[in-house]
Amino acid sequence: MSEEFWDPKIETMPLKDLKELQLKRLKNLVKYIYDNNKYYNQKLKEANVKPGDIKTLDDIQKLPFLTKQDLREYYPFGLVCTEIDDIVEVHASSGTTGKPVVGPYTQNDVELWGEVMARALYANGLRKKDVMQNSYGYGLFTGAHGFEKGAQKIGAMVVTISSGNTKRQINVMKDFGSTAIACTPSYSMYMAEVAEEMGYDPKKDFKLKIGCFGAEAWSNEMRSNVEKRWGITAHEHYGLTEIIGPGVVSECKKKKLHINADHFYTEVIDPDTSETLPPGEEGELVFTTLTKEAFPAVRFRTRDLAVYYEDKCDCGRTLPIQSRIKGRSDDMMKVKGVIVFPSQIEAALMKVEGISDNYQIVKTKKGDITSLSVEAEPTEERWRQGKLDDFEKQAEDEIYSILNLHVPVKAIEPKTIPRSTGKAKRVIER
Ligand SMILES: [Zn+2]
Repeated sequence: MSEEFWDPKIETMPLKDLKELQLKRLKNLVKYIYDNNKYYNQKLKEANVKPGDIKTLDDIQKLPFLTKQDLREYYPFGLVCTEIDDIVEVHASSGTTGKPVVGPYTQNDVELWGEVMARALYANGLRKKDVMQNSYGYGLFTGAHGFEKGAQKIGAMVVTISSGNTKRQINVMKDFGSTAIACTPSYSMYMAEVAEEMGYDPKKDFKLKIGCFGAEAWSNEMRSNVEKRWGITAHEHYGLTEIIGPGVVSECKKKKLHINADHFYTEVIDPDTSETLPPGEEGELVFTTLTKEAFPAVRFRTRDLAVYYEDKCDCGRTLPIQSRIKGRSDDMMKVKGVIVFPSQIEAALMKVEGISDNYQIVKTKKGDITSLSVEAEPTEERWRQGKLDDFEKQAEDEIYSILNLHVPVKAIEPKTIPRSTGKAKRVIER
């Protein structure tokens, strides 16, 4: 094992060889789903594709998409390609609308998950000597379990504290000497707030050096705030229950999201026409799991917008790269004809002097017309200084310079916006 890579053979494999491996696996996959699942078999027949028709990677475009709607229809185990007896673990995500999305795993799938998570955490710098405080909520949700499997595979110590009980988190972090934290970015900021209230300096009084963050859309500006506040390097994790949970990508030291493309094949499509787009163009991410057994996802439409690249990275990895997610197309808002993502507003707000990390976007709907306003907490110090009109004006100007849209901003008293120990609710409807 090299210093830098968990799996040097795969992580630095020439792109040409990687594509050969992908093609071999794709062929096997299509035959596998055709032979082992009634629904997939029927879908392929309707699309007039047989396993033998997959001769190149581009032939994947002949296969039908898998959508959230399909998952709801075949809830909970309709898409399973093994015997139900072969499933050893099940996860689920809270479906934002309707039924949850179910993620079943065979023993091999669990192994694979641990492997890709180990790759991801190792790329973040996690090593055997580290102590990872796992503050994702333990439960049906994939997050905590994926991080635990990967960290244990590396041989790090996992502190299985789950989310919540924030004072206890701080005490444990101090007493156990946690060197890495895994949670949502917003929860880490709340933890910093509580640590300060307890009389600690988050930067100096703990051994923390790595943050493994995910499950939430956050801007680069928020990332740098998290890093400054804790004195750590903050890494992004991206994944989906439909694909495997976290572990779909590994963020390297250069902060590029390398897709674990030997297991997950990525396409980017135009969300309106469903046409496949070339590398470098922004569109909807579509994933195919090449090696999963229990529930292989074939051309799953994520509704997440990003760009796919095959460029070389300075870290030495050859695995393809995806940009950070611009937003879920579900989160996209249209205001006076302007497309707005919450992360754009966050990026603007984080430039305002004296702002804390706590804000809320308030969405108001009158008939078909959506309007937005923002409530933001200044820091305690900034709040005491008064002249909050200036604060509001600066925030409005920053938003205007990004969106060309006037969004009124109101400064509200520090610690009035509810804090979250999981996914922060950044957009509320009134
Ligand atoms: Zn890299």
